[in-house]
Amino acid sequence: MFTDDQLLPISALQHLIFCARQCALIHVERLWAENHLTVQGRHLHDKAHEGKSETIDGVRIARGLWLKSNRLGITGQADVVEFHPENLIVPVEYKRGKPKKDDSDRLQLCAQALCLEDMRNATIEFGNLFYGARKRRTEVKFDAELRETTLESIDQFRQMMNHRITPSATRASKCDKCSLVELCMPDALRFKNGARAWNDRQFEVIKVMKAPESDPYETS
Ligand code: SF4
Repeated sequence: MFTDDQLLPISALQHLIFCARQCALIHVERLWAENHLTVQGRHLHDKAHEGKSETIDGVRIARGLWLKSNRLGITGQADVVEFHPENLIVPVEYKRGKPKKDDSDRLQLCAQALCLEDMRNATIEFGNLFYGARKRRTEVKFDAELRETTLESIDQFRQMMNHRITPSATRASKCDKCSLVELCMPDALRFKNGARAWNDRQFEVIKVMKAPESDPYETS
C-alpha cells in the first residue's frame, strides 16, 4: 500500500502514452509550457467541473470528484462520475477534438475506474469519453487487456519517477503539437552530440548561405 504522499497523478499517464520524454520533463524535471492545445484542453476540463453535483432521474451526477487508490498509488480528479441505481458506476471524461490514435484517453479513464472500484468496492465495466468535435459519448469497456495495459503504464511511470529517468528525444510528427517542444529541443538532440552538434550545424548552414563571394552568374 502507498501512503497519500506517494500517490502519483493519473493525468501523467496521458503524457506517458503521448511521449515518455514529455512525461519526464513535466513530472521528473518539473517543466511546463502552454500552447493553444493545452489551453483549450484546460478550459474544457474546467468547464466539465463547473456546476454542482445533482441527481437526475435517480442518477447522481458527481462533478470534479477526487479519486485515489492507495493500493495502486494513484490519484486524480474525474470530470463526471454517474452513480446509477444498483451500484452501476460510470466515469465520464470530456476531451477536446476527436478520439486520439493512441490509448491515452482510454488509459486515463480506466485508471479512474480502478480507483473507483477500490473506493466503492464495486466492479466497473465501462465508462464514457465525450469528445468536443463529435459531441457524443464513446463507450470504453474496461476489459482485461485495457486493465493490464493501464497497470503496466502506472508501473512504468513509477519507475520513471523513482529513478528520475528522462528519456532522450526522438523527433516525430507529434512534436509539432507538443507544448514543450522549445524546452525539449528534439531537433538538437537528434544529432549525435546533442545541442553542441546542432549549434555547429546551424553555423555551417549560415556559412553556406553566406559563401558566394563571387558573382554566382559568372561563367568560367
Ligand atoms: S517535443 Fe517531441 S520528443 Fe520532445 S517532449 Fe514533445 S513530443 Fe516528446
